[in-house]
Amino acid sequence: MEYDERLARFRQCHVNPFNRGEEEGAREDKHAPQHEVRPELFSTEAKTQTVDRTMDLGLAEDHFSRPVGSFVASDIEQLKLAIEECKRLILELPEHSERQKDTVVKLIHLRLKLQELEDPEEDEPNLRVLLEHRFSKEKSKSVKQTCDKCSTIIWGLIQTWYTCTGCYYRCHSKCMNLITKPCVRSKVSHQSEYELNICPEIGLDRQDYRCAECRTPVSLRGVPSEARQCDYTGQYYCSSCHWNDTAVVPARVIHNWEFEPRKQVCRSSMRYLALMMSRPVLKLREINPLLFNFVEELVEIRKLRQDILLMKPYFLTCKEAMEARLLLQLHDRQHFVENDDMYSLQDLIDISSGRLSCSLTEIHTTFAKHIKLDCERCQAKGFVCELCKEGDVLFPFDSHTSVCHDCSAVFHRDCYYDNSTTCPRCTRMTERKHDPENPQEA
Ligand SMILES: [Zn+2]
Ligand SMILES: [Zn+2]
Ligand SMILES: [Zn+2]
Ligand SMILES: [Zn+2]
Ligand SMILES: [Zn+2]
Ligand SMILES: [Zn+2]
Repeated sequence: MEYDERLARFRQCHVNPFNRGEEEGAREDKHAPQHEVRPELFSTEAKTQTVDRTMDLGLAEDHFSRPVGSFVASDIEQLKLAIEECKRLILELPEHSERQKDTVVKLIHLRLKLQELEDPEEDEPNLRVLLEHRFSKEKSKSVKQTCDKCSTIIWGLIQTWYTCTGCYYRCHSKCMNLITKPCVRSKVSHQSEYELNICPEIGLDRQDYRCAECRTPVSLRGVPSEARQCDYTGQYYCSSCHWNDTAVVPARVIHNWEFEPRKQVCRSSMRYLALMMSRPVLKLREINPLLFNFVEELVEIRKLRQDILLMKPYFLTCKEAMEARLLLQLHDRQHFVENDDMYSLQDLIDISSGRLSCSLTEIHTTFAKHIKLDCERCQAKGFVCELCKEGDVLFPFDSHTSVCHDCSAVFHRDCYYDNSTTCPRCTRMTERKHDPENPQEA
């Protein structure tokens, strides 16, 4: 019933004789019953009957034989019905006839028109570059997001919207040209250093009582607009640029070992902090060496990282370890394979929660097991303490050992500290160098 009703409405729009071209008018004489399909005849009862009859008579094609330009259907449903009808007609009309060819052309036009109506913004580009943002057109229709520009909801079903692939700034297509905030991704690449002063306020007066970002007038009294402080930059923002988002602020972590995301930050700080989260840019030893004195977990992690760096040369020269991709177990913390003193904010968060200690201990155990137990090639690269020449094979990452800084030889820690002279291996090598009979080193 619903179908018929819609079909009837569709036809109603197109029985207007003024819509028809001249040639068609002549052809239509053959199809006199057409004239029955007048709008005033569409009473509820007559409708089904009339429509069915028109369809049965195969007269419907006349609706589509008008020039495409005069086509006025604006409703998607109606267009879909018209397309169905066109398809049916094509099958019914004599093969290769002129009318069938015309109908095929019309079907194509109808489909194009439908496509246009279903996605009216089809002509909007998929990628737009603006203030260093790289906006990519979103396909998702159902997700409800908030526009970072106008702070209202993005209705994916009816509105076109974009997300920056760099900083995840989201906005309506219509708001795009109003954007004044440059992409924070570029800030991350140009200036990959955190502000490490806790909430470095300069005062509203120094900001001319304006939002630090968009320059809207603001005040703490909320007149004309509420001033909100960002705990990361210390500056004040308007409510469009500061949504009271909470974040872990690096300065508070470094100085107070404080992780509660109680502090509120502006939108662009939030995006910046999110992008920086996994970047190993914090050299704790330099920024706050005192941390190691009272955060035990940090000392533990530092030891595990130092051990892993000592294990790395074994893996780089071991075919089996390479094949087993052992070092790749640290692929999401690549810096752990490169140095032992740079930390990302995520590392520190995971250290404070205990997560990093767990996962790193596990990796450390796997690595040590390969070198000391599973792999003959790696085992063969162990050391015998040259000071006492006793005991098990030693490895530089064993807990009771000391390593010569010059030749990397490994000794029992006790033997090494008792030894008041120099490293025997270094001494031997020096002697050989000076021996004219044996110029080659062992
Ligand atoms: Zn918007
Ligand atoms: Zn961006
Ligand atoms: Zn603002
Ligand atoms: Zn090995
Ligand atoms: Zn020893
Ligand atoms: Zn040595």
